[in-house]
Amino acid sequence: MKNICVYCSSSDAVDAIYLETARALGAQMAARGDTLIYGGADLGLMGALARAVHAGGGRVVGVIPQALQARGIAYAIADEVIITPDLRERKATMEARADAFIALPGGLGTLEELLEVLTLRQLQAHTKPIILLNTRGYYAPLFALFAHLYRERFAKPFENLYHVADSVAGIFDYLDAYKPFVAPSKWFALEER
Ligand code: AMP
Repeated sequence: MKNICVYCSSSDAVDAIYLETARALGAQMAARGDTLIYGGADLGLMGALARAVHAGGGRVVGVIPQALQARGIAYAIADEVIITPDLRERKATMEARADAFIALPGGLGTLEELLEVLTLRQLQAHTKPIILLNTRGYYAPLFALFAHLYRERFAKPFENLYHVADSVAGIFDYLDAYKPFVAPSKWFALEER
């Protein structure tokens, strides 16, 4: 049983396949007894995921900034609702509570959250697993951008910084086998200079 932090889209305008994948993840988390830690909204993939966890009898923890909660978009029936003063504290609370991070397809908010935990992992600030669910190749352009950063030596290639799963089952295969390890130094070694 794990506390799994999921970052995903707040958009309802996306193709149904993305919403279905969020539901499939929620159902699987509930079946395993994992707790969902997420941004607390009842919108898009976020809402679909939370409702699926509940439908399967699982536990939902929503962490939502005051300003968003005041707009009435919170998933009000979460088992625990944590209201934070701002977005930064929300992210910190989600990170602290999580044993693992999963990013489903999402927009700028999802990218921001994902890049923060990747950056912290790279800086050896945590050793928690980070998994991207690459539904229909959604994240291919991001991986191409990462490859560009590596080629230009703005970042150091680090194969195990995150795991790419093509299916919900693939997420849990990785999680169940994961052994925490400290990331290698992000900086180019002196001998490489
Ligand atoms: P986006 O990918 O831009 O739709 O943003 C979704 C991500 O950012 C989620 O993982 C949330 O944690 C956070 N987020 C963005 N918009 C909202 C919202 N309206 N309510 C709650 N969380 C949100």
